[in-house]
Amino acid sequence: MTKDKPTVTIHGDLCKGCGLCIIHCPKEILSASDKINELGYLTTVVSGEGCIGCANCYIVCPEPGAITVVRP
Ligand code: SF4
Ligand code: SF4
Repeated sequence: MTKDKPTVTIHGDLCKGCGLCIIHCPKEILSASDKINELGYLTTVVSGEGCIGCANCYIVCPEPGAITVVRP
């Protein structure tokens, strides 16, 4: 596993599917899914590659812990 690129993880168990991260990702790599979590929300997933580690998604997400961005 390479560690020289930023990575983003969405923790589906904490996501409430508000979509804010989708709107604010400049690379458009986040999208809505048809997965329903234990809270009953349709979750957002990482659907593309090329995360630049800008952390926009992390900043706008209202759910603590739902998004992790790691910059190398
Ligand atoms: S860190 Fe930036 S580029 Fe990466 S998923 Fe979040 S908003 Fe998109
Ligand atoms: S901003 Fe947070 S709660 Fe909203 S869809 Fe994205 S990960 Fe889920």
